Amino acid sequence: MTSLAVQVRSKMFPNGVCAIRDLAFNAQRGEFVAIVGPSGAGKTTLLGLVAGLDADMDGCIRMEARGASQDSPRIGFMFQEPRLMPWLTVRQNIDLVLRPYAGTRNALQDDARVREMLDMVGLKDFAMMFPGQLSAGMRRRVALLRAFIIEPALLLMDEPFESLDAPTAEQLRSMLADLWRRTSPTVLFVTHNLAEAVSLADRILFLSARPARVILDYAVPLPRPRAPASASVLQVQHHLLARHPQLLEGLVQPAVKTGACHAGAG
Ligand code: ADP
Repeated sequence: MTSLAVQVRSKMFPNGVCAIRDLAFNAQRGEFVAIVGPSGAGKTTLLGLVAGLDADMDGCIRMEARGASQDSPRIGFMFQEPRLMPWLTVRQNIDLVLRPYAGTRNALQDDARVREMLDMVGLKDFAMMFPGQLSAGMRRRVALLRAFIIEPALLLMDEPFESLDAPTAEQLRSMLADLWRRTSPTVLFVTHNLAEAVSLADRILFLSARPARVILDYAVPLPRPRAPASASVLQVQHHLLARHPQLLEGLVQPAVKTGACHAGAG
């Protein structure tokens, strides 16, 4: 069942920059969709539109609520910067995002979930610490937990593991895969790291350079779990880049035509 339907005919900024044109896709409930495109293509702009942070566009974005009891679907975010409140402890930073839902949730269950998730991401003994007392990787773990704790129907992630060292980024990806498997939000995950996209996503939407549009909608043909450095993930990347050498610059090779003149091609 479709969870998210995005159709942006045009997103123009007041300075005349057209960031997105004729970009459309659907995502199924619980689907993990990676969005890959050149820098400046319009990826962050797209997430802002989907989040409803920016409503100034020509187009339509529809999202289905998870159940009848939920008026508007919950949306979780994770950005490149963890965006934690430095004057609040880890636990207080997490409680802060739960506060708007206090009337609709069971506080005891929430407390148990926070403790369980702190344990899952290896932060059980750090709940009373302040962000400044944590490593960069630990701060991202708090941000990851915070994104999931509200049980979002849709999770928007904008290069969340950028600028981390490789082992820390891999540890976070594995935590993300685990949390997603348990709670199944629909995910839009922006990255320019093809190995990361192939290792995490069900589908990858490759975007053109600005104005962004979808140039390739690719279903990742691999079972899980997948490690970014595994032979199968490398093989998929190799296959994609062999077919479309300029894919990461936002260009796909035209489809090979079959017919009398091209018999045998392809
Ligand atoms: P990406 O996330 O793919 O790197 P962005 O969505 O951040 O790209 O930006 C897409 C384009 O829109 C860029 O050319 C950027 O300079 C421009 N842009 C982004 N935000 C604004 C804004 N508020 N006003 C004008 N132009 C903007």
